Amino acid sequence: MKKEKGLLIVLSGPAGVGKGTVCGALRTKDTDISYSVSATTRAPRTGEVDGVNYFFKKKEEFEEMIEKDEFLEWAKYVDNYYGTPLENVKKTLNEGQDIILEIEVQGARKVKERYPEGVFIFLMPPSLAELRKRIEGRGTENAELINKRMTVAREELDMMKNYDYVVENDEVEKAVERIQAIVTAEHCKQERL
Ligand code: 5GP
Repeated sequence: MKKEKGLLIVLSGPAGVGKGTVCGALRTKDTDISYSVSATTRAPRTGEVDGVNYFFKKKEEFEEMIEKDEFLEWAKYVDNYYGTPLENVKKTLNEGQDIILEIEVQGARKVKERYPEGVFIFLMPPSLAELRKRIEGRGTENAELINKRMTVAREELDMMKNYDYVVENDEVEKAVERIQAIVTAEHCKQERL
């Protein structure tokens, strides 16, 4: 089937829910979907590569990008900036290629305003207790930061009603399959044929 414009897929949900892991698994498994690399001012974690996981920027560089209107959306999250570079998203969609954005909920809301035809997927943790265990298990955050992230997570869970789909991340493989099923269904929608 010939594709016209690609699908803009937004995967959001609380930090620690496993968006990164699910997106990473999807990225390896489904090469038909392109992945948007965000810019951020936070420091790289061990193993993270500039240009692959994020474009790591200085605060001034990021603010200059905001001024030049180079972001589809950006948000300040736990004292750092995160944003989706616009140019790559536009180019990818115009080439008829689907692209997935892995972003937090404020950013997802901004994308919805600007791009209501996007496909909005909320990734849900099996429970808040499980979410805390996952953030703690990552071992990269101190206690104060974990509590801050949990407060944000509770507020974020409240926002799932604004999404087209809710996917539970009980197992990464299952979550990936559910997202692939959603993308297939979206391509089969009457108005896209
Ligand atoms: P982390 O620091 O754990 O990599 O990411 C923190 C949060 O920022 C996660 O919820 C992640 O999905 C989100 N995030 C990553 N990139 C972007 C982006 O470009 N825009 C927005 N709004 N959030 C992002």
